[in-house]
Order: sequence, then structure tokens, then C-alpha cells
Amino acid sequence: MKLKKLFVAALMLFSTTAMVAQQMQMPPIPVDPAVRIGKLDNGLTYYIRHNEYPEHVANFYIAQRVGSINEEESQRGLAHFLEHMAFNGSEHFKGNGIIEFCRSLGVEFGSDLNAYTSIDQTVYRVCNVPTKRATALDSCLLILKDWSNGLSLEADEIDKERDVVHNEWRLGEGPSQRMIQRALPKVYPGSKYGERLPIGLMSVIDSFKPKTLRAYYQKWYRPDNQAIIVVGDVDVDKMEAKIKELFAGIKVPANAPKVVAEAVPDNKEAIYVYEKDKEMQMSQVIVMMKHDATPQEEKSSMAYLIQDYAVNVISQMINQRMTELTQDAACPFFQAFADDSQYLLSKTKDCFELIGVPKEGKDMETLQVLYREAKRAREFGFTASEYDRARADYLSGLEKRFTNRDKRKNDEFGNAYRDHYLTNEPIPPLDVLYQTMQQIAPSIPVQAINQMLPELISATDSNLVVLILAQEKEGKVYPTENDMAAAIAAARAEKLEAYVDNVKDEPLLDATKIKKGKIKKETENTVLGYKELKLSNGATVILKKTDFKDDEVQMQAFSMGGKSLYGEADYTNLKVFDSAIGLSGLGNFSSTELQKALAGKEVNADLSLANTRQYLTAHSTPKDIETMFQMSYLYFTNVKKDDKQFQNLMTQLDMALKNKSLSPDAVFSDSVAATTYGHNPRFNNIDVKDLKDIDYDRILAIAKERFQNAGQFTFVIAGNFDEQTIRPLIEQYIASLPATKKKAEDFKEVMTFAKGKVVNQFKVKTESPKATAREMWYADMPYTLENNVKIDAVGQILSMIYLKTIREDESAAYSCGAVGYFSTGSKQPKAMLQAYCPMNPDKAELAVRLIHEGIENMAKKVDADQLQKVKDYMLKQADIDAKKNNYWINTINVFKEYGLDFHTDYKKTVEALTVDSIRDFLNQLLKSGNSIEVIMTPEAK
Ligand SMILES: [Zn+2]
Repeated sequence: MKLKKLFVAALMLFSTTAMVAQQMQMPPIPVDPAVRIGKLDNGLTYYIRHNEYPEHVANFYIAQRVGSINEEESQRGLAHFLEHMAFNGSEHFKGNGIIEFCRSLGVEFGSDLNAYTSIDQTVYRVCNVPTKRATALDSCLLILKDWSNGLSLEADEIDKERDVVHNEWRLGEGPSQRMIQRALPKVYPGSKYGERLPIGLMSVIDSFKPKTLRAYYQKWYRPDNQAIIVVGDVDVDKMEAKIKELFAGIKVPANAPKVVAEAVPDNKEAIYVYEKDKEMQMSQVIVMMKHDATPQEEKSSMAYLIQDYAVNVISQMINQRMTELTQDAACPFFQAFADDSQYLLSKTKDCFELIGVPKEGKDMETLQVLYREAKRAREFGFTASEYDRARADYLSGLEKRFTNRDKRKNDEFGNAYRDHYLTNEPIPPLDVLYQTMQQIAPSIPVQAINQMLPELISATDSNLVVLILAQEKEGKVYPTENDMAAAIAAARAEKLEAYVDNVKDEPLLDATKIKKGKIKKETENTVLGYKELKLSNGATVILKKTDFKDDEVQMQAFSMGGKSLYGEADYTNLKVFDSAIGLSGLGNFSSTELQKALAGKEVNADLSLANTRQYLTAHSTPKDIETMFQMSYLYFTNVKKDDKQFQNLMTQLDMALKNKSLSPDAVFSDSVAATTYGHNPRFNNIDVKDLKDIDYDRILAIAKERFQNAGQFTFVIAGNFDEQTIRPLIEQYIASLPATKKKAEDFKEVMTFAKGKVVNQFKVKTESPKATAREMWYADMPYTLENNVKIDAVGQILSMIYLKTIREDESAAYSCGAVGYFSTGSKQPKAMLQAYCPMNPDKAELAVRLIHEGIENMAKKVDADQLQKVKDYMLKQADIDAKKNNYWINTINVFKEYGLDFHTDYKKTVEALTVDSIRDFLNQLLKSGNSIEVIMTPEAK
């Protein structure tokens, strides 16, 4: 389909109502005036925006509009290889200088300092840079400048990196990547897109000459292909002057080649591709109907926004229908959804796509049903009630963004400016977008949306692509191209009827029938800044009013007991408890009816069972807070059994678990669980043979039992609520919850960590060789602020050591890390230290040795420099965390349960850490002698 037609359709939408008809001119979308955009004479573009949320930090980006599509055949993989070299030596930062320098600012490599290479873009970033020192900002610009044209690309550094990239290929080489790699030339006939997956060819990576890489760098990394983006707590004028000073001198060579968009040819005949892989656990059926992408220059017109709105509501309405279908046991797929987006990798071509995850052996039926539903939509359109819900959802999502407009984070702006530079995505001021769409969306009738469907959903073979990524299995008969074509033909031949939208027309809950309770007592905690209400039914409510996010209210209710109170007969029920309750209905509403009833609302609630506690977790916007309370009320009092949904879950579990042994990662995870907990069936991962023990009625009974006594619960509510509004709601929906006089329960001691030194080494047969190590050290220790800070610091320092020795020096792993925390799942809390390392199979022995040496050396001597970097990072992170609602919910939970204030003296405790105190702490931990090691290596083929 040609996009021109889609564009015209969008215009027609407009002309359907008088109100908008006068806007036929299609005004351009304004660019947010809060961002300074400029272009230097050499073509370099820059975006600078002052943003104070959060304060005192800034993000720096450089985006290049080139990627693997710009490689020559001899350079396949070098766009991505180059990205790695950006951290291995440049004009102003020798060796690992960029990583080292950033660490000194508390900016960690891998999270805040990172980059990615895709087929048509390469983007580098340094994020969360503290802005208090001007010199730090200058240095970050210097890093961007080095990336733009000052990389050293020395031969020996290149040689060192070959292994790292080769490892990354091996690690990423999962079933999907293998199949996509094989499928690409077939789904992109006659196009370079078929030959340019960024990871490239290992034959090139292992042997290319340095000059080939330098040639790519010099040819494409030029100011006219680059944008510098700076967002954060910065002085825009100063930043602009600095950018000019640093970058204006860079020259673009005469006759530099232009970046030309790579076209994707249309296909007259349908393309059918069937790929299979032994490690694939669930198949995927993908139907794509290609159409041209909106040309970049047309994206600045208001028509683009309207088109975007239309495809958004269309996908949503089809998705709702698909979800409804899955509730029928006869439905051939577990889940399916539709979308209009980029055709696989290519920005010059979009597609309307339907993706289904078929039940075992139902690939062809899934294909037929996906096509049938697309056809049904095309022939009959959507109903007014479906559209009302989709529009309400769209507008409430937009309203949520608008409400929070003053609290947008730096990366939200950074990504938007990147997309504006690379693909001309509009960046209107949020208030203009909000007001415009609020005016336009209600004036677009469902008929206008329906008119667009034939443009998106084609009825012929032209530009149709069917891609199936399937599980390979002995004895399985695979469909041929003819079978796939026959499934499509069968769907085309069907005589369909219009969809009927069944909606439950009643309120979620009749509040008049609930007897209100009372707030009986009120106290204040001035240290952590909250109010505590004692309710007439015994429940406790804690109100922590914040203004971190204007559109957010979070609630968590908890009490003690959890899974620990149940015995062996329920082990499997407990393992699926959260999913089974999650798919159940509430009150009179099945889960589908509930979903429909919640259209236009930004709200959610869930129950969950942890080992020692039960939780209700919910969130909403300030506007939908009453619905959040109603859902919570129903979770406590009236979870509705939904047999269809439950059956669906069982079929899905059956298939996933049957195929678990195919995935090395799943095999490894099973071994870790079994070894860690001493083969205690309570903690083993769920297995297919366990499924027969699952009893839905019993799960519902457990939910009822755990939540029958609201008097034992503490509800912590944090966020932007209005106290006068929330008090009556608390009396109506929380104080009214049933409660018994039973005194608070405690959990039972059931935790069984393996004791002493436990080693489990095994070999596994896999499609591509994989090796993974997981080490754990633990000890019973007092749960205190000081110990909690220390175990965290130990994990971070160890992570730093491993990154340096295992990854950077030896290339023995692509990634590796460590983490320290307290496990509070038993009466005696435990300090836990864990290391995780997906290894290079050829160097597995070396990697394991380095894991051991790392911790042994640290127990002898802690490096002062490393400790300082970790302290800086923790102090900076503390400021970021203190502005999150879930941080306060956790902090208050710990305070209520253990009487520990982890907030007030946190920074003081971090500052007091010394190399000796860390070393002593680590020795104390290791003295317990508890260490658990699980190592998986590949069987020789
Ligand atoms: Zn990489």
C-alpha cells in the first residue's frame, strides 16, 4: 500500500466534521520552544534543553545517522565494532580513560555510560552527570568530541576487542537471532537490509584489517551526520557557546558521500518464510502487510499526528478482540496482537502486522485466525463502543503525560530529540499536543477510523509477508509454503459476521452497599515525614504525600505469613498463585469485562504472595484513585473465578514447561534454584510434572484466607494525592474491609539455604556453546543500616573488579557482575553476595578462577580508589532514589517491620565506610564458610 493513500485517508478523517474542516490547511506541528536547536556551518546539529527534574544532573548524547546498513561487504559488523572501540582510547582519553573518568563522576559504564548500534543509527550517551562542577560538563563534551572524530583505533586495542565482540555474538546467539539471521535475505529480497544485521559476520570480526575499520569511521562519522544532545540542569547559552567552540573546527571532507535511505522493494507475490530452531520454546506467527513509511518531510504536518492517533486506536481495538478470543479454549493461540510499525529493520518501510503465539501444532490455524480477524476488521470495521473505549484510553494516557509535564526526566527528552534528528519525529510542546488531540480526537467518528482500515489491511498477496519462527522437534511435520498460502486462502474464502461487543453496563462496585468504617486515631512521623492512621477495623494506613510525579499514586498493603504458612500439598499452587489470581475477575466482572470497564482509566491492582508476606500492590493517577480503592476492596473481598482464563494459563504453562529443557538458560536457572535451596521442592522451579497438582479452587481459597483479615494489614500510600479527597475514600474502602480479632500472624521458618561449600558443575548440550557461572556467599548477620550499606558496597566493588579482570583484561566473559543485599526471608536475616557471569566457553576455567581470586584478594585488601567511586555513586543514587514513590514505600515497610530507619542516616553511613571496615565485613561474611557455586559448560559436540 502506498502511504499517499494513508495520508489522504487522514485528511478525509478531518473533513468528516465541520469543526476541523476549516483546518484543512494542515498546520505544521510546532517545535517545543523550550529546546534550543542549532546547526553549525559544518552540518553538526545540536539540541540543548534546560531541565531540572532531577536537579543537578545532565545527560549527553551523540547520535549518528549511520549504522550497519552503511557497511561495505568487507565491513560487515564493523559499525558495531567501532562502537566498542569508542571506549578503548581516543585523543583526550587514553586506554579505558573514558570509563575511568566517568566512574570518577559516579557515572557507571554499562548503565549511565553506554552506546548502541542498530542498522541505521549509532547512539552514544553519558547520563546522570553531576552538574555542580563546570569542568565535568566540559569533559563530557570532550568525550562526545572524541567519539565524533578523535578515536585512536590502535591495532593492538582492536585485536583485544575482537574476542569481546565474538563473545557478544555467542551470548546473543539465541534461537530468535539465529532464525532472523537466516530469514533476513528472504524477507528482504533484493535489498541490502537482508545482509546487514549489526552483529555482522564473525569471519570479518576475527580478521579485518585496522584500516578497514578506520575507513568506515572516516567515511561516515562526520559532523553533517551527527547531532549533539544535552539535556539537564545546565546553562543553555554557555553550553551552546562551548559546543560551537569545540565542534565548529571539524571539517567535512570535500565530496563526502551522502547517507542515502535504502529502499525496500514491494513484493507482488506473497513471501512465506518458515524458520525453525531446536532451542525455540514457543513459536511465533507473524503476518505483515507492508506499506511505505511516512516520508520524513511529511512528519512535521498535523496530519501525521492524526494518522498516528488512528493507527494507535486501531491496534488497540484489534488487540482487545484478540485477547477476548484467547479466552476460548478452542483458540489456536495463547496470545496475539496487532501493531502498525516499522517493517522489521527498515525505516523506509512500515507494515501493519499481526503476531500470534500458537499452541503446540497450531501454527497454520493461528495464521488463519490472525488473517481472519484482520479481514473481519477490514470488512465490518469497529463498533462505536469499542472505539469509545480505545479513544478514552488514548486520551487518558495523554492526560497522564500532560499532568506530569513538569516532571519529565532527562532521558525522555534525550530520546525525543534523538528521534527528531534521526527520523524527524515531531517534538511539539506537550500542552499543544494535549490540547490539539483533546479537541480533535472526539470529533473523529468511528466511521472515519473504519474508512482507514482497507488502507492498512490489504486483501491481496501484494506486499504480504508471512514469517513463522518455529520450534524444531523430532517427528514434527513442518508446513510448506503451500500450506501457509492455503491457510491464507482459507481465511479469505470465509464468510464472516460482524464482531459483537459485549459490555457489562454496571459500576464496578456499589459503594452505597458498603458500610463505611472510621479513622480512629492519627499520629505523625516527622522523621520520615508521614501520617499514620489507625482504622476502625484495625488496619493501618500510612500516608506519604509527595510531589515527585504529578500523575502518580502508589499503594502497597502487606501483612505477614505468605507462602511459608502452606505445606507440601500446595507448593505448586503457590508457584502459580500470582498468575492465577492476576487473570481472575473481580466482583461481577470477568477479567475481559473488567478490562473493558477500566477503559480510559490509568489504574491497576494485583495480589501477590511472597515467601513471608502477602501483598496488594496498586497504582493510579490522582484522578482514578477511587477506582484503585474499589479494585483493592474487591481483591480483599471478592475475587471472581474465571475458568476460561485459567485453562488458558494451564495450556500455556504446559507448553512452556515441556520445552524448558531446550533452553540452556532455563536448565541453568533450575540448577541454581535446586542447588541454592538444597533441593527443597518448595523452592524448585516449577516443572511440567507439577502441573497436575494445581487446583484453581484451592488457589482462590488461599487468596481468601490470606486477605480475610484486613486488620493485620498496613497500607502504605505514597504519591500526589489530595488529603481531603483520600480520607473519605479510606473510610469507605479500607476501614470497611472485613477483619477478625485474630492477632497478627507471623511467618514460619521454611528457608533452607544450602550450608557449607556446595559445588555443582555440569555440562549441557546446546545449539551454540554457552557457559555460565553463578557464585553465592552468605552469612547470618544482624540486619542493620550499617550492614545493609556494607553488603551493597561490597557487591559494587566486586562488580568493578570482575568487569576489569574478567571482561576487560581477559575477554573471558561479555558481561559479569556482583550484587550484595540482605535476604529477609528467614527469621535470621542473611547477608548475601552473588556473582553472575555468562562466560566465554573457551575461557570458562580462567573466568571461574578470576571470580575466586577477585573475592580472595578483596578480602585481603580493598582498593581505596574503587571504594571512593562506589561511595560517590551510592551518594548520588541516594538523591535520585529519594525522589521515587516506591523508594518511600520500601523504606516505610522496613521501618514498620524492623523498626529500622534506612533513610535518615544513610548518607552518613556511606561516608563513614573505610577500606578496613569493608574488608572486615567481607571477612566476617566469608568466615561463615557458606558458598554455593553452579557452573554450566557446554558438552563437546
Ligand atoms: Zn556490543
